[in-house]
Amino acid sequence: MIEKRSLPQIRINERAAARIRGGHVWVFASDVLDAGHAEAGALVHVLGPRDRPLGSAIYSSSSQIRLRMLGRELLAGEDGLLQLIRRRMEDAAAYRKLVVQDSDSYRLIFSEGDRLPGLIVDRYNDIATVQVLTQAWDRPQRKQAIVDAVREATGAEHMIERMDPRIRELEQLPASESSQLLGKKKATIFSLNGVRFHYDAVAGQKTGAFLDQRENYRAAAAYARGEALDVCTYQGGFALHLARVCERVTALDISREALEVAEQNEKLNPQPGKPEIEWIEANAFDLLKDYAAAGRQYEVIVLDPPAFAKNKRNLPTALRGYKELNLRALRMLRPGGILVTCSCSFAVNEADFLDTLTAAAQDAHRSVRVLEKRSQSRDHPSILGVPETSYLKCVLLSVT
Ligand code: SAH
Repeated sequence: MIEKRSLPQIRINERAAARIRGGHVWVFASDVLDAGHAEAGALVHVLGPRDRPLGSAIYSSSSQIRLRMLGRELLAGEDGLLQLIRRRMEDAAAYRKLVVQDSDSYRLIFSEGDRLPGLIVDRYNDIATVQVLTQAWDRPQRKQAIVDAVREATGAEHMIERMDPRIRELEQLPASESSQLLGKKKATIFSLNGVRFHYDAVAGQKTGAFLDQRENYRAAAAYARGEALDVCTYQGGFALHLARVCERVTALDISREALEVAEQNEKLNPQPGKPEIEWIEANAFDLLKDYAAAGRQYEVIVLDPPAFAKNKRNLPTALRGYKELNLRALRMLRPGGILVTCSCSFAVNEADFLDTLTAAAQDAHRSVRVLEKRSQSRDHPSILGVPETSYLKCVLLSVT
């Protein structure tokens, strides 16, 4: 008879236990007192001071985030974990039914936001992509359970695992290429708010297209008119939405590759009787300076730069970058114009961002009304007690 080994028990200190009680789900390496016999990616039980059981977690032997809590329940073993995957996936799918309309694409699993920490699953029409960010989900049996549950939840016939080489290295997982987990399609056409996009699962940044701005595209289009400028357009997310309601759209990005896809996307969404979108390969800082000097004016400007602050250390530099872009944009808006301004740095919180916008408005001598303070789309749920799940700021301003 095979003896059933009990799950490893991990002891953590009071500070980490208090954090968990407060709703957070991470335990840092420095707060682990005794990792027992846990192996890379193990399912473990977590004990606080006086050996009080706090719940179940997955263990990473290499990450600074040593434990990611799965819940208070003490899972009995591997079967319990496989069942938990299925339950969480069903819950995530039911939640998406509530918050996603007019789109065939959304994030199905947002890691901590869906209580499957370290796992990302996106759905682009008939293709699903899976990204593993922690050792636990790299084990074949668990990955198969994920594939089965995603298929059941979405009906997706095609599934691809996307590998992030930097994360695999940090997690000490073997280097590996992106691979087909199910079916054979790697590319498709998907739609957000009725706007169509090309999707190629093995190209592009992140998982190929940005789903987290889906609701903000719609919000921006609701106020837009006249001439619009989309700064850092990537594959044209805002620009294509604005083209439906604006007379003329100019969009810029530093990446030629992204703009080539953007141009293809434009062909999927013809706007008869309107000028084509002008796609410009340029550095946003330089081009805004040139355009401002040339006296260009717009009714709508969108700013969606990459995360300037990767951590708190470079916060001051990041805020200077945001201020400069916003200042230049504010100067180029016609009276009554709309500024849609975003920051996707977690390290820049909403208060920092609003302060920066205030300073830019003062310098530009513009009076600014806040139309909407928005965040990432609801299919990227943010969790109370886990501030890291809330990263995107999108502020819509009316500028006089
Ligand atoms: N608005 C896009 C997402 C933007 S992601 C959407 O909704 O899909 C950030 C983009 O900024 C990337 O496409 C990147 O190529 C671009 N970028 C980065 N640095 C830049 C710079 N200095 N000037 C212009 N674009 C830049």
